[in-house]
Amino acid sequence: MRILVCNDDGIYSPGIAALADVAAAFGTVQVVAPNAEQSAMGQAITASRPLSYRPTPAVGPSAYRVNGTPADCVTLGAHNWGKVDIVLSGCNLGFNVGNAVWHSGTLAAAKQAALLGIRGIAFSAPASVEKYDALKPWMHRVLETLLPQQGLKLVNVNLPEEPRGMIWTRISVRQYEGLIVPTKDPKGRELYWFSATPLEAAPEGTERWAVEQHRISMSPLCLDLTGHRQLGALRADHPLDEELARTVSPPKSSPEAAKKVAQEEASAAAGPQHP
Ligand code: MN
Repeated sequence: MRILVCNDDGIYSPGIAALADVAAAFGTVQVVAPNAEQSAMGQAITASRPLSYRPTPAVGPSAYRVNGTPADCVTLGAHNWGKVDIVLSGCNLGFNVGNAVWHSGTLAAAKQAALLGIRGIAFSAPASVEKYDALKPWMHRVLETLLPQQGLKLVNVNLPEEPRGMIWTRISVRQYEGLIVPTKDPKGRELYWFSATPLEAAPEGTERWAVEQHRISMSPLCLDLTGHRQLGALRADHPLDEELARTVSPPKSSPEAAKKVAQEEASAAAGPQHP
């Protein structure tokens, strides 16, 4: 099995060294990671400048650093290695639960893999972890559990310090207070610190609840953000022109129509389209 290991804390992070070490028991590992920290960059891709891809023997014989985002690393790594069976991201220095699912670069690397049709698993642990030796057997057990589950395309894993078992969880979607703390620069000009605090306690069965209980949390995710329940209700209660669209439009768009929309997409995103 060819395992691409990425992260958002940068290629020299102790977390990626631990994950790459554990992954080596399951296949051939290649590390492709940002040359500097990219936490909270989400799934940004670098579309306005070229990227470098440099061998980094200090990390390992098969390690490369990229001057880009975690999503860049996965895309470039998969392209340059040819065939990748799975992308493992992390282990992040800090949990990725709740609203972090939207901002996390760690999870974004796994999501980028899923977009490319490759399985992706993101690993996060508390930032206070100094030595990963105690967590490594648990990371091994996570991979033993997840790797045979071929149907699991995208999983977010959070490991507490001193775990007491592992459970399947859902994402804690809750209201956050978008706390902004004003400060000043040396010249007296205004600056702002961003932070966010959850407003309610974590419900049972969520990832935050799991790590609060010292359980390893494993959340299966999907890329489809559609609100399927609402969509069903809307189509039933507030039908629009679906009937007309079904009657007059072919179920599959013509190549010309598909090409036109793809061109309009490309001019907006200006990004290289991965096949
Ligand atoms: Mn990070």
